[in-house]
Amino acid sequence: MRLAAASAPVTPGALADGTPVPLMANVGSAKDAPAAVEAGAEGVGLFRTEFLFLGASTAPTVEQQTAAYTDVLRAFPGKKVVVRVLDAGADKPLAFLNDAHEENPALGLRGIRALRASEQILRDQLTALAAAQEATDADLFVMAPMIADREETEYFVRLGREMGLRSVGAMAEVPSIAVLADQVLEVADFVSIGTNDLTQYTMAADRQLGSVAALQDPWHPAVLRLVKMLGDAGAAAGKPVGVCGEAAADPALAVVLVGLGVTSLSMSASAIADVRAELLTVTREEARERAARALAASSAAAARAAAAAR
Ligand code: PEP
Ligand code: MG
Repeated sequence: MRLAAASAPVTPGALADGTPVPLMANVGSAKDAPAAVEAGAEGVGLFRTEFLFLGASTAPTVEQQTAAYTDVLRAFPGKKVVVRVLDAGADKPLAFLNDAHEENPALGLRGIRALRASEQILRDQLTALAAAQEATDADLFVMAPMIADREETEYFVRLGREMGLRSVGAMAEVPSIAVLADQVLEVADFVSIGTNDLTQYTMAADRQLGSVAALQDPWHPAVLRLVKMLGDAGAAAGKPVGVCGEAAADPALAVVLVGLGVTSLSMSASAIADVRAELLTVTREEARERAARALAASSAAAARAAAAAR
């Protein structure tokens, strides 16, 4: 499939004082690219690659994957496209990769752990991504889900570089990676915070379970403090720290995330306009003040209210 290249005028995301905050789109396949371009996305902050694998009884071939990744990259010429390698397990189980008998699949062999246990699947995916990188002029960044520490980061970054990828990073979804953010950022080129899973694991609240939904709130100061640790480590290392979870789509929370040191935001295309408008109402200093008030709160509701107080 060939798609029209990015053509809509792009208004770059920025704060009132001109501080740039790139606004990117989350996509699940090339079909989502036109809406992202139309919404003025400055690139893709999260390309979930599971669509190629879900429902399949075996992994797609390198050729099939290369074609699919090239389709997405071609829609964003000259732009940043962040691709996440396969995130299988827990809420995204795959028959040929995951053990259906795990009692706690969210705490089991998922994400990078599952890929490491079946390394050829990861190698094939990275081979296809490297081929797509060479076939297009998009700026490809590749990251792995569920990375927990420096050793896992080193494993993924080493493999990615071996396969010819230029920018290799880690998703921050497991609280340990925030605690060890300085170590991880010595190795990774960038970090992208997946607030859906980071909230689930910080609060020990299953993201699929309605009875604990109140705890699955990224406004919780415990989650915000972890985001700050990552933002501070990114600033110290001079490396980007983005957010690609649902939190980025909440305009008031987007301001707080930027105040915590997050350097770009990625969300579904439909959320970009509202987030862009809200960012333009605050300076960097004001964003930091709102973030400081939210960090000092003792509950998600209190953090929300504190950030909104004038
Ligand atoms: C996240 O966990 O925030 C994330 C972006 O990944 P997913 O929702 O696909 O698990
Ligand atoms: Mg996740």
